[in-house]
Amino acid sequence: MRGIKFTDVIDALTSQIAVLSLYGQILYVNKAWKHFARANSANDADAYVGQNYLHACEKAAQSGDTYAIEACERLRLAMSGEAMHQVLVYPCHSPTKERWFELRLDRNCEGEGDGIIVASHLDVTGKVLTEKTEAQIKSELAVANLELDRALERERRIASTDVLTGIGNRRQFYELAGHAMAVARRYETPTALLLFDIDLFKRINDALGHQQGDDCLRAVASAACRELREADILARYGGDEFIALLPRTEAEAALKIGRRMVDTVRRECSYKNHPDVRVTISMGIATYPKDAQDLETLIIHADQALYDAKNAGRARAVPYKQTD
Ligand code: GH3
Ligand code: MG
Repeated sequence: MRGIKFTDVIDALTSQIAVLSLYGQILYVNKAWKHFARANSANDADAYVGQNYLHACEKAAQSGDTYAIEACERLRLAMSGEAMHQVLVYPCHSPTKERWFELRLDRNCEGEGDGIIVASHLDVTGKVLTEKTEAQIKSELAVANLELDRALERERRIASTDVLTGIGNRRQFYELAGHAMAVARRYETPTALLLFDIDLFKRINDALGHQQGDDCLRAVASAACRELREADILARYGGDEFIALLPRTEAEAALKIGRRMVDTVRRECSYKNHPDVRVTISMGIATYPKDAQDLETLIIHADQALYDAKNAGRARAVPYKQTD
């Protein structure tokens, strides 16, 4: 094989390459370097040879260019031998185009004599723009996902909340109560179901108007909330009817809580401007496992007890009684 000239090899490369002495003096620049220099308005590209690359970088650094300051720093490290191979990506925008270059500084430590530093610049604009686009897409996707999560959460809340009273709706009740009943069955813990309804609510609506009727529904919901524990599941079952599932609650305790709720509503939900209008509730109570084994049957039995409460004169809580 005939001898291969180092200049032929270095001129074949697309990177713009300058071979430096360990003092920063430019010993050789390749074809790509000269081409780039001419294209970027250097009058005499050959005049680079003999100049000091570090001085040129320092001149640029004096203008405060942070990348030039960094390049000087890296070059000093290469010259002192503290770093043998370094890479720095920096922007070098032309008036018409965004550009990024990768500066590599490779020091040859094995050669004879003082050794050399090869400074090569490669246009990496395509790679940087792709990375930037990918990062942008990722961040836009993250924002879109966050917005979607929020929208879904909002939807979920709206779908499970009773708009008028702010407590759960029937749909949420079935979801949460179904789970609570599964837990109750698994651990055989007593669970009470309370079904209650505003007494003669139609009359309240007729006497005071629908708006005041709505206020009454809100007042009853909030009074019920106050009497229940955080683990209890309360919902508006529909119209003037409410439902609550009380985990870990025996029949006796459930009756006590139910009576307290009836008293609280009677005390706190009357209209100041209409002392003649009394707001009361009637309640039916059924308890697992005594009265029923599943949620549906508990509701049916609590409804029967509610019917009994209405028949017995309203404004009371009545436990389910099995009829033969
Ligand atoms: P009872 O003691 O037997 O329960 O008598 P009631 O009048 O409460 O019984 P009924 O079920 O006949 O009446 C319920 C009324 O509740 C009828 C309906 O107009 C009213 N209602 C249902 N939903 C709403 C609501 O969202 N707002 C208002 N203001 N009234 C409602
Ligand atoms: Mg009613």
